[in-house]
Amino acid sequence: MISVDEAIRIVQAHSRPLPTESVGLTHARNRFLAEDVTADSDLPPFDRSQMDGYAIRAADVSHVRVSLRIVGESAAGRGWHQQMQAGEAVRIMTGAPVPEGADSVQQVELTRELEGGNAVEVLQPVVQGRSIVTRGSEIKAGQIILRAGETIGAGAMAVLASFGYARVKVGRRPRVSVVATGSELVGVADKPGQDQIRDSNNYSIRAYAESAGAQVEQLPLAGDDTELLKRQFAEAATRSDIVISSGGVSVGVYDFTKAALKELGAEIFFERVALRPGKPIVFARLPNGTLVFGLPGNPVSVSVTFNLFARTTILAMQGAQATELQKETAALTKDLKGTQDRESYLPAELSTSSDGRLLASPLKWGGSSDFIAFAHATALIIVPKGSERLEAGATVQVMRLPA
Ligand code: AMP
Ligand code: MG
Repeated sequence: MISVDEAIRIVQAHSRPLPTESVGLTHARNRFLAEDVTADSDLPPFDRSQMDGYAIRAADVSHVRVSLRIVGESAAGRGWHQQMQAGEAVRIMTGAPVPEGADSVQQVELTRELEGGNAVEVLQPVVQGRSIVTRGSEIKAGQIILRAGETIGAGAMAVLASFGYARVKVGRRPRVSVVATGSELVGVADKPGQDQIRDSNNYSIRAYAESAGAQVEQLPLAGDDTELLKRQFAEAATRSDIVISSGGVSVGVYDFTKAALKELGAEIFFERVALRPGKPIVFARLPNGTLVFGLPGNPVSVSVTFNLFARTTILAMQGAQATELQKETAALTKDLKGTQDRESYLPAELSTSSDGRLLASPLKWGGSSDFIAFAHATALIIVPKGSERLEAGATVQVMRLPA
């Protein structure tokens, strides 16, 4: 049985970035940059005033009060492009270019206009350079601001817009097909009959996959029918980069997922990982190159195995720099049991203590089908294999779950 880390490495090794595409800026949010973003101009592009006030020479106002002649006005988008001389001032607005000859801006609150606007009395001296953001002091033309592989958040939008990225080169979003196996399953709109339950995995997998950037198609329920599952895998493969199934991967009499994959000629990379929950998890590749994740059936196992493995592929295919969920350390609020031979990833709610420490509260854990409690999980507590018991207060590693 391979370790979680080994399994993640295998998944990464087989998850190549898809071809890139160009999208309009308004459609670029949450996509992954496939190119470095470079400044096409200095920022600011000219010496810019940070205040409403008067562009002046600091030397002119070293002994206040002093009155200067107003020779012009510089507004944002409409500067004053002459040479300012000693003894002169130019009325200036925030965001406007500072005229040649001026070396400082005195804010309007520290001045008083005289002679109906022809002169200004400066009430306090300024240090040279005051309230001026000099050209290129924030960014120089040619500088790389965002790197390929970074995600485009709302904050990055302003950067892309500022430097003229009307279209952005991003990684293509993988097409994912999800299919649920199990003769006990009925659809979400159906009333379960005797021995039946509603399919929930397709919905959680879809939500996780979409928030990782995938385009998701949900296939009809597959029952426990190898032939039907084979047809669905084969057909989905023709239009999907990834197929994600749930259920039917353990050692029960009706666990047909692996059989279907093998009969289709799939290469199986792994089928068991030293992980709790989620030991039976299949990662395979169909002959046409489509990757397949056969997740276990238990809804909690689905969340854990999806986030460890399938999410990694979805992000890697988009060219993302970071394909694994962020790990942090936290203090346990309750005792927790691990296992001898497997690493555990147990649902938890994170909070902050009054002294600012991150706390991890294990959620009710009655077995891998305890998905009701899981609805409130914000993280997984990682319990190394061989740790029989962790005491309240112990420092543990946690992995934040995506929203
Ligand atoms: P399996 O891995 O197929 O043996 O399924 C393990 C457990 O998960 C069983 O109790 C199944 O009924 C349940 N299960 C399997 N698939 C789903 C699904 N799509 N939605 C909800 N529960 C499921
Ligand atoms: Mg089943």
